[in-house]
Amino acid sequence: GLILAVETSCDETSVAIVENGMIVRSNVVSSQVETHKRYGGVVPEIASRQHVESITLILEQAVEEAGVRLTDLSAVAVTQGPGLVGALLVGVVAAKTLASALRIPLIGVHHIAGHIYANALVHRLEYPFVALVVSGGHTELVEVTSPGVFRILGQTRDDAAGEAYDKVARAMGLPYPGGPHVDKLAGEAGEGIVLPRAWLEADSFDFSFSGLKSAVLAVLNQASMKGETIEPQRIAKGFQESVVEVLVEKAIRAAKARGARQLLLAGGVAANRGLRAALEERCGRERLPLLAPPLSLCTDNAAMIAAAAYLKWERGELSSLDLKAEPVLSLEAWSVQSGA
Ligand code: ATP
Ligand code: MG
Ligand code: FE
Repeated sequence: GLILAVETSCDETSVAIVENGMIVRSNVVSSQVETHKRYGGVVPEIASRQHVESITLILEQAVEEAGVRLTDLSAVAVTQGPGLVGALLVGVVAAKTLASALRIPLIGVHHIAGHIYANALVHRLEYPFVALVVSGGHTELVEVTSPGVFRILGQTRDDAAGEAYDKVARAMGLPYPGGPHVDKLAGEAGEGIVLPRAWLEADSFDFSFSGLKSAVLAVLNQASMKGETIEPQRIAKGFQESVVEVLVEKAIRAAKARGARQLLLAGGVAANRGLRAALEERCGRERLPLLAPPLSLCTDNAAMIAAAAYLKWERGELSSLDLKAEPVLSLEAWSVQSGA
């Protein structure tokens, strides 16, 4: 199976061609981050327009780099949701057009299934596994019992991890997206300031990061009122330690509780060095294999969408040509049917 996938859920326009859900023939990503930077975040209307402007070129480039003919393709996959509706729509229209012109199947993909299955492009997955999904819009612990069958064990009750990083970074005067900047500063600090951890109920796999974000804002405000300055490195480190400790402890506890054979890391925040180091250390001690994608496959890209689409293509679970962009879409409901 040779799958061409399109991803336009947020601010990356990406097209990839992947063979058998594993071999990446091309994965072209065009980021709009420079455009949105000046607004301090993604502006939906601008994102849609930029997707429209770049999609054709990115598509041509992906086909050329893969060295395939359009007639070699087995199916066209596209991120169906969740995401910005106007942005998703651009990818959905492009994918439908291509699928109907080539008379090949269309497969709608859940964006978070894509983030999780980015791991399949570089690792051999063993079931059941637990995935820690940490991205700009999601923080979830997901149990995957068999290929493409998802169960949410816990999720954030307020801000996503990446969102908290970006908000804290903004308050610290760092450029958007702030996650990588906070990560870098945290690595330069001696000792971090002490900040709270939100553990929630003893048995809960849910997360909450808004209290921590408010605590950072309070520290910054107090310091500025007193005319004091706190080293940004110490704030970044304290914040990162608090986020990482809760993520790591809950992920390990979930993996143990579900008898997971592997722990997978997924989403843009999976690029975080503090998180990776802490997880490697804990998983090593627990003798739990830890899988994470390379940095280029952590953030939004279409290769991961092709990898997830392959699960459905293999089982003949195809979408119809009236597929709709779904800004809100359940991961559990997207699970493959034959495996459930
Ligand atoms: P979603 O996948 O939930 O729809 P998204 O696609 O916008 O959201 P991703 O592209 O997966 O999110 O990840 C982007 C997020 O990752 C941003 O919030 C960014 O700040 C964060 N991020 C990237 N690198 C790092 C890092 N090294 N440390 C912390 N956060 C990071
Ligand atoms: Mg993005
Ligand atoms: Fe994403």
